[in-house]
Amino acid sequence: LCSSKSYYRSLSLFLFLRSVVFSRFCSPCDIKELFCTATGLSRNTTISLLDSTGELFQNVLTQVAEQFSRAFKINELKTEVTNRLAMLEKRVELEGMKVVEIEKCRSDIKKLREEMASRNNRSVTSLSFLDDNKKLTPRRDVPSYPKYMLSQQTIDALRKPTFDVWLWESNEMLSCLEHMYHDLGLVKDFNINPITLKRWLLCIHDNYRNNPFHNFRHCFCVTQMMYSMICLCNLQEKFTQVDILILMTAAVCHDLDHPGYNNTYQINARTELAVRYNDISPLENHHCAVAFQIFSQSDCNIFANFDPEAFKQIRQGTITLILATDMARHGEILDSFKQKVDNFDFTNEEHVTCLKMVLIKCCDISNEVRPMEVAEPWVDCLLEEYFMQSDREKVEGLPVAPFMDREKVTKPTAQIGFIKFVLIPMFETVMKLFPQIEEVMVQPLRESRDRYEELKQIDDAMNEVSSDHFFYYYYYYYFLTGISYFLLIIPIGAEKEE
Ligand SMILES: [Zn+2]
Repeated sequence: LCSSKSYYRSLSLFLFLRSVVFSRFCSPCDIKELFCTATGLSRNTTISLLDSTGELFQNVLTQVAEQFSRAFKINELKTEVTNRLAMLEKRVELEGMKVVEIEKCRSDIKKLREEMASRNNRSVTSLSFLDDNKKLTPRRDVPSYPKYMLSQQTIDALRKPTFDVWLWESNEMLSCLEHMYHDLGLVKDFNINPITLKRWLLCIHDNYRNNPFHNFRHCFCVTQMMYSMICLCNLQEKFTQVDILILMTAAVCHDLDHPGYNNTYQINARTELAVRYNDISPLENHHCAVAFQIFSQSDCNIFANFDPEAFKQIRQGTITLILATDMARHGEILDSFKQKVDNFDFTNEEHVTCLKMVLIKCCDISNEVRPMEVAEPWVDCLLEEYFMQSDREKVEGLPVAPFMDREKVTKPTAQIGFIKFVLIPMFETVMKLFPQIEEVMVQPLRESRDRYEELKQIDDAMNEVSSDHFFYYYYYYYFLTGISYFLLIIPIGAEKEE
């Protein structure tokens, strides 16, 4: 097989090969080992292979061996390459999305700059009482409130007046509101930008104050009750989607920037709001104005894709509904509805508008429709806000309504007249159109009335004071006559005290 001769301390082997068959798993090391074994050399000997013309043969051999080895790994390699390609593809896609986001940010910033510039140029005549005007600007471009994945259980519960409104933090309420707009098909039907919807809701949240009662949770309650009524009364079959959008949006906006002191205080204290709106529903006018200030910012304008005519319709509808929440107009609005309800015509615009006004009124004062455990804490919140006002009125020497006076009011007296003379008559009228609300909404009201009457009897027995019957009659009277209350009641109250 071979001969050998000494050459610079290295050994030359001359192989005369006819054919060599290597195993398919053979590596260069294996081949080298084979030679070493065949020639009896130690395994770490350096071996050079030369072909018959004296050219170096080793590299070729090594390459062949490696190619063999690679060939068998090709499938493995294929998988790896495919994986890498997929990864690269994904990265390219993600980078592409980032580019889109960056582009969007850029255009938003540009718009914001232009808006700021144009605002600086404008005179300061518009709504200067918004001393915290800066609140109108959202804090960041893309709203980053954590996305809450609402469970199916929450989604189902959200459709009912029994929903426990106390369980949720602001972020969760925001997610719920967002869900309602999607669920009612408003986002899809009106091509609302979902990011704008988030930003708008966040801005709404920031523009409710932390009052004991008129706060963001109250906004959430009213909107959630509206959503419940839309579901319960199948309003989507009776109303257009524009009407549904108006109902929901008016509910969300209806108490924006409420200062915690009612219209009577505003008027008696001659506040800037009362002066601005000539004592005509100063608060409700203000809520509305703030709502449309927010819409005037392009990044919060959920109506951005509307044509001018549609926007006009939404604006008018929303204003009408928010202004209808002034309780001074309760009698007027309910009477007008009563005249229509027996021959109600869903194709008559005037009828529909009147019904929408009554619906937002129902939702606004619907706490007692909720289960007792949910409703009762709201009475404490309302009284806290009332007492805050009456204390201030006393300090400022302004008239104090008895139902706000911590010396005179109790929870049962506050609620009985209101449930009996305001809530039940209104809900019973709506019941004529939507009988399904009797069990779900009117019955809880009756139960609440009975419960508070029992509580009052206990209170009376404890105090042996039954002299205050006059009190809640006037309390309800106040709601029916609104501002004229003080002209009529104060002298009677004074007489009674003598
Ligand atoms: Zn309200």
